[in-house]
Amino acid sequence: MEKKQFKTESQKLLDMMINSIYTNKEIFLREIISNASDAIDKLYYRSLTDDSITLKKSDYKIEIKVNKDKGEIVICDNGCGMTKDELENNLGTIAKSGSFEFKRDNEQSEVDVIGQFGVGFYSSFMVCKRVSVISRAYGSDTAYKWESEGVDGYTVEKTEKADYGTEITLTLKDDTEEEKYSEYLSEYRLRYLVKKYSDYISYPIVMEMPKEKLKEGTENEYETVYEKETLNSQKPLWKKAQSEVTEEEYAGFYKDKYYDFEAPLKVISQKSEGLTSYEALLFIPAHAPYDYYTKSYEKGLELYSSGVMITERCKELVPDYFAFVRGVVDSADLTLNISRETLQHDRQLKVIGKAIEKKIKGELLKMMENDREKYEKFFDAFGAQIKYGLYEGYGANKENLKDLILFTSTFERKPVSFKEYMGRIKDGQDAIYYAAGESVDKVLMLPQVEVAMSKGYEILILTEDVDEFAVKMLHEYEGKEFKNVCADKLDLTSEEDKDTKKQENEKNKEMLDLMKESIKDVYSVEFTNDLGTHPVSLSTEGELSVEMERVLSKMPGADKSMMKAQTVLQINMNHEIASKLKLMFINDKEKLSKYAKILYAQARLINGLDIDNPKEICDFVCELM
Ligand code: ADP
Repeated sequence: MEKKQFKTESQKLLDMMINSIYTNKEIFLREIISNASDAIDKLYYRSLTDDSITLKKSDYKIEIKVNKDKGEIVICDNGCGMTKDELENNLGTIAKSGSFEFKRDNEQSEVDVIGQFGVGFYSSFMVCKRVSVISRAYGSDTAYKWESEGVDGYTVEKTEKADYGTEITLTLKDDTEEEKYSEYLSEYRLRYLVKKYSDYISYPIVMEMPKEKLKEGTENEYETVYEKETLNSQKPLWKKAQSEVTEEEYAGFYKDKYYDFEAPLKVISQKSEGLTSYEALLFIPAHAPYDYYTKSYEKGLELYSSGVMITERCKELVPDYFAFVRGVVDSADLTLNISRETLQHDRQLKVIGKAIEKKIKGELLKMMENDREKYEKFFDAFGAQIKYGLYEGYGANKENLKDLILFTSTFERKPVSFKEYMGRIKDGQDAIYYAAGESVDKVLMLPQVEVAMSKGYEILILTEDVDEFAVKMLHEYEGKEFKNVCADKLDLTSEEDKDTKKQENEKNKEMLDLMKESIKDVYSVEFTNDLGTHPVSLSTEGELSVEMERVLSKMPGADKSMMKAQTVLQINMNHEIASKLKLMFINDKEKLSKYAKILYAQARLINGLDIDNPKEICDFVCELM
């Protein structure tokens, strides 16, 4: 059977191209400049094998001119140019890409040609009512002019052009209520767009920029003069070997780009050759931006493809727990979406993201080991983020992050990692001990902490809201469980002491129960011989510690009744108060009940908790005084 060709409604297709592919009109300049750069690349590539072309790389340039009166932007290049046929084929056929064919025919080429879809050129019709292209192919004497007003088609005619290359004249649409096309006639706007999208085009992009200068012969009269300026930086910093770039250069680049006044704590440069090869230049800031821990902060790395900016904040490239990392990723291997604003597959991004994550973690671990002071500074700024990362997603990333965590320890009051803690753990110690509170000083005052320290145990001090949740999520490290020294079931005493304690509790069960009933709020009241010289303290039964209750109850909209730790009032059985209580149980049960309430209030205060009934307690105290 005869096979028929699809027919395309080319006008409709063009209309679609112009109006639906791009979300962002301003990218037309990026597309035209990328084409100019491709054209130069092609001629340069030819010159490598054709001795008759005597151009040096430095001879090539792209020039932008503005004609405000006529509403025109003109972009000229001295690249390969186009013959009459090429004008018709490349610009008259939608989705035909001379650049794609060039790439296909010169696979080994060293040249990073950008074009591939054969549609970028038409994006100019988003902002133009007329586009004319005058081009003279290198080596030819005749020039041709292609002109079009969009969907109505195009004309091609012979014309004059002094030199080879291409000159594209964009006549902007008239301004409307919604759209001010004339803004593209501003040199500053154009320079901004070149910087934003085309900064790393490898040929100079030059334009005459207005400068205010003192009028000659006057003292305070100014005039606008135009001076040629190269707008783009050309060679991206990340394409250079790290050894070629000074620390100041990196710092300058970082500060300019991310509006930071302080140099980055760490510069990471990575070059990866693989299925998706890429270069990355990453920065770890020295301090958290003012909005870092708020919703307005956006993570993400800048994504480039062959030096052209594709996405400003590509979120897929960094996990939330490394949201502080700033920087750039450049890959020539990305399969871009036709608009070149996104990628066709995010699988490539995932692969790059994974590799970047691994690199960042490796660099942080190295920093922790070799430059401790720097790491502690880093952890001060972003440690909370990492601890949240460990807690989030039901601990999905805890294995990955646990070695990056530091907590201040009772040993020298310095931040330590779990690994370091394990390195000097006491013989026979079966758990990693921690205590939580509002500040290091407050934690150090907890009776249980004092006692555990006096027995030679090292205790991690948790002071941030997220800390205990993170530790609970981690559950254990190298087989040792995390245990809160203030929680119940942590018996640091000898077997013999444990027995005495048990007996004492059994003997006084009735009294302790009565005290519990008076207080109401507690899970139980117990005698203990584990408080050193302190009369009372609080501990907990179950998962929720006292500190976790404090954190949770602070949260907006918290239902306090749902988040009560099962508190145990511990009374030091060796303290004078114990015998007083026993006497009261025999002689004055009402007084015992008041004492119970006062002791409970004391214990709450020591543990950094509020008391619900301060007036009642004060009245009791006065009464007893
Ligand atoms: P793409 O750049 O993706 O190939 P375009 O629609 O932007 O698609 O361009 C179509 C083709 O027109 C290019 O592949 C190239 O062959 C040709 N072309 C466009 N601009 C120029 C130029 N300034 N000089 C030479 N050829 C050009």
